[in-house]
Amino acid sequence: MSRRHAVLVVALLAGCGSPSVPGNVTLDRWRSGDAEPGQWLGLGRTYRADRFSPLVALSDTNANRLGFAWESDARSRRGRVEHGQEATPIVVDGVLYVSGPWGTAIAVDAKTGRQIWRYDPEVDGSYGRRACCDVVSRGLSVWGGRVYVATLDGWLVALDAATGTEVWKVDTFEDRDTRFYTITGPPIVAKDVVVVGNSGAEFGVRGYITGYDRATGARKWRFYTVPGDPAKAPPENDAMKRALETWGPKTDWASGLGGTVWGEMNYDPELNLLYVGTGNSTPYAGWHRDPSGGDNLYLVSILAINPDDGQLRWHYQQVPWEIWDYTATMNMILADLTIDGRPRQVLMQAPKNGFFYVLDRATGELISAKPYVYVNWASGVDSTGRPILTGKANYRDRPAAVFPTQAGGHNWQPMAFNRQTGLVYIPAREQGMIMFTEREYRWLPGDVNMGSGAIFGDLPKDFKPSQELPMQVPPELARQFADAARAEPSMATREFLLAWDPIAQRERWRVPLGATEMMGGGVLTTAGNLVIQGTAAGQLVVYRADTGEKLHEIDVGTAIIGAPVSYEVDGVQYVAAVAGFGGALNPALAPGTAATRYANYGRILAFALGGGVAPLPPKRTPQPVPEPPPAEWYRETEAARGAGLFAQRCARCHGGRGEAQLSAYPDLHRLPAATHAIFDSIVLGGKLAPSGMASFADVLTPADSRAIQAYLIREQRVLFAESAATKP
Ligand code: CA
Repeated sequence: MSRRHAVLVVALLAGCGSPSVPGNVTLDRWRSGDAEPGQWLGLGRTYRADRFSPLVALSDTNANRLGFAWESDARSRRGRVEHGQEATPIVVDGVLYVSGPWGTAIAVDAKTGRQIWRYDPEVDGSYGRRACCDVVSRGLSVWGGRVYVATLDGWLVALDAATGTEVWKVDTFEDRDTRFYTITGPPIVAKDVVVVGNSGAEFGVRGYITGYDRATGARKWRFYTVPGDPAKAPPENDAMKRALETWGPKTDWASGLGGTVWGEMNYDPELNLLYVGTGNSTPYAGWHRDPSGGDNLYLVSILAINPDDGQLRWHYQQVPWEIWDYTATMNMILADLTIDGRPRQVLMQAPKNGFFYVLDRATGELISAKPYVYVNWASGVDSTGRPILTGKANYRDRPAAVFPTQAGGHNWQPMAFNRQTGLVYIPAREQGMIMFTEREYRWLPGDVNMGSGAIFGDLPKDFKPSQELPMQVPPELARQFADAARAEPSMATREFLLAWDPIAQRERWRVPLGATEMMGGGVLTTAGNLVIQGTAAGQLVVYRADTGEKLHEIDVGTAIIGAPVSYEVDGVQYVAAVAGFGGALNPALAPGTAATRYANYGRILAFALGGGVAPLPPKRTPQPVPEPPPAEWYRETEAARGAGLFAQRCARCHGGRGEAQLSAYPDLHRLPAATHAIFDSIVLGGKLAPSGMASFADVLTPADSRAIQAYLIREQRVLFAESAATKP
């Protein structure tokens, strides 16, 4: 028998479940994932979610021979905008499953890339307006012959893993009409239930997760992450009673308070615990949210929940009285480590706030926490697990420089842990922001509700109040920005791949990402001594796991921001990832991003030893500036007011202006005449809602729409004159 056949037979025998049933992940397979090194059963591969592949065919001795194997189309097929591909694929018995924007799902043959089925929930495009950071999906779940995917508009759907047809679906939202809930995070199966959270804290929602019977979709329990207004209803359970004690009498209940669960959850079958990371507050500004300064449980916390009854077993709060958009929603890794001579079952996380946490995952006890990037909001974490605040980052009375930023020292791009090197690999970022408070705050439906503003990075040390800022601010505030920036080291952005020793809580090495790589995506690590990471510039990069030496780089021409995976089919080891730029940075494409050079669309890409050169997408064609409508169309007084309205209502997506500031969304500063002619019917009438541009009639009057258009015509005249002047 050839070696290839031997491997195949072993793979079949090790399969516990029946390989003839597609997507047959079982509790046994979930528990003993290491017995099947060729599978990738969950987003983090097994319940440990360490994103560590035990496969060794690909290694530090031959990684330079890794090349393109196949690709499969993962376009979002809605409107003109391509959206971010943030999901990690799952590979079970030779089939690769992955979710995409809006909550679509695709199954392909993991050996050839041939599409087996595609599911499109046909989400109402106007839900795009409700998503803070693009209409992405960060993954699905495969279990018992079914694929579980959550749609942007709040449905949890069970699909037949063989055919992609709906088995059941359930509406997970409450207050659908008044609250901007969305779902971008993945569902997870925990034994008999499938659990899903939601997003929307920037707009003001009350976070919760819900457990559904995975066979029928019947609701079994719901766990809220923050209390509701006690004047309207008593606390739902003991955990909410305890949480309520940490909110003061002047709490702004109308704001929903946030705490949404939009990242990956974990299920530990040995301890029968579901681990859940909760998000930031609404509004961020704590003095507007709850002036008492109470802890505000369970914002920015890791929760351990019994999936059988939905009851809280323990919690660990990283940031009491959160005011910086810090979240505990980043991926968590379960590992067994020997610490101070004792074997410990740990949970590790590197959340936005810049500290690397190691918790005892049975009890929630903090084992250690140390900053993995520069941090100024806290000087450390004390022995009781509470952060030691410096006061430097409090922006209540004056603007303050804050490290890390709302983008985080690490965000949703998953980190990985290699059991052989003992290192965690973090796509890390050092960056400062200046935060300032809004003087007045009241929750407004249909609006972002943060009670604060922020300016990220790059404010120069010699900044003068007269210099242009990316938003309109009064000179006095600008002076205070300059003072805040001077008090800290450089606010500029440094991105790097960081190798972190979680026991010593020390950096082992870092690879700075230069202008060519741009931002790093999620991370895969393997027993072949490799760390593999995509970049926004459109490469797949392979490093030595022990030293960080770069071994190989493959140009694909499309940003890879999600995490790659590795699996084996018929004795061949593959590496696969979804590619496609998007997410929070879609409104402003950074100059080095692949999307500024090539057509940007969703692709599933696979690589193998001896593979070829990856095909590049067509080159992006620069967009001309059409001749603007005549000057009679606008009055300067309207344009000035329109500039402010545009900044407030439109720039969140349509901030791009000309070729110098590219955006994934249509550039409104260079609209064709035909679009100008129907401007109101788009902005107020919702004419393009199916493509993702919702009506704004709830927050803009016809006069507002006219003012915005006047501003855009003025700017288009400037751009048109510039482009005419530069023509040969
Ligand atoms: Ca947030």
